[in-house]
Amino acid sequence: MVQRWLREQLRQRGKFRRRRIRRVEEERERTQKWFGIHLDQQVRLVVEFVEPFEYQGSCGVSAFVIDGTALADETLREVASRVAACVERRVLPGLAVVLVGEDPASLVYVRNKSRKATQVGIVARDLRLPGDSSTASLLALVSELNADRAVHGILIQLPLPSQIDAQTVLAAVDPAKDVDGFHPDNLGRLMLGIPRFVACTPQGCMLMIERAGTQLDGARALVIGRSTIVGKPMAQLLLQANATVTMAHSRTNDLRALVGMADVVVAAVGRANMVRGEWIAKEATVIDVGMNRGPDGKLCGDVEYDVARQRARAISPVPGGVGPMTIACLMRNVVLSAERTAGLA
Ligand code: NDP
Repeated sequence: MVQRWLREQLRQRGKFRRRRIRRVEEERERTQKWFGIHLDQQVRLVVEFVEPFEYQGSCGVSAFVIDGTALADETLREVASRVAACVERRVLPGLAVVLVGEDPASLVYVRNKSRKATQVGIVARDLRLPGDSSTASLLALVSELNADRAVHGILIQLPLPSQIDAQTVLAAVDPAKDVDGFHPDNLGRLMLGIPRFVACTPQGCMLMIERAGTQLDGARALVIGRSTIVGKPMAQLLLQANATVTMAHSRTNDLRALVGMADVVVAAVGRANMVRGEWIAKEATVIDVGMNRGPDGKLCGDVEYDVARQRARAISPVPGGVGPMTIACLMRNVVLSAERTAGLA
């Protein structure tokens, strides 16, 4: 009898235990689900989608890397569709690239620009003049291109040989075809806040800052370098986006302190790793324009990348940062010029 009673007790307890286990499992299922997504899926989602966009740095994790190559590809796809719209209006966007001499770096740049133009449907015309050409011969070519209705953009590859008066040549380009944005008229318009063409490198930097999700309104921005092709137009664009802008140059005192206070740093100097990573403020956005050869012969920027990456919120690499974006923005300017001809802009 006792045995029967014991068996009954064990059976009941087993039932109870099984019921309890089922209830615990149901509860776990319920709490693990989040908007209908199971826990292991949640983990996958965070790893695959959230982490790349999260800004890190304050917790010792490296910064969001602003992938200039990917953003440039995206920009070029958009340009290609705008080119197609121009073609529908019987306007075939055309770019004339003028190179004087045989500077090896310039030859590479010119080739890259022509290749990218062709890729998006822009007709690229390479024009070469001998290295000993005069200002007058270059001015004659510029005048021909200004008058050519098939040319929507004129690019004079810099630097020009020393015997050529570069300022006179740049000022001779029709401002409506000045896709580099270096003509005094276009630089003046940028300063007035009514740009016709925005210089390609600063334009690319702004797109990268935007891609990083950086809030410029009220931010402290530091531009290192005051050249006409990068530093000065960059500062204007940041100012127009309501940043508080400081410009640094070779005579600036205590660059380290200025870098440490900046929410956004744009480095355009041309000296490998001159901006030390430890100077960068935590949570800063860093855009590295510099293109230098490091002691190991490899391409590198102005910012000490590996250290800066541990502190910044977002950073652009070299190579694969501003370089591809500069070319993509040149194509943007060419298609914009063609759109104006086609009555689309
Ligand atoms: P410039 O030589 O015309 O200008 C360099 C600037 O850096 C100058 O304003 C100079 O000051 C400043 N500078 C020099 N030393 C210091 C220092 N110790 N501290 C602070 N500022 C300093 O160069 P660019 O603007 O043409 O180009 C800058 C870099 O960007 C180069 O590496 C170039 O190759 C690269 N670049 C990259 C592009 C891309 O597409 N990725 C496009 C264009 C440029 P000061 O005026 O007093 O002499």
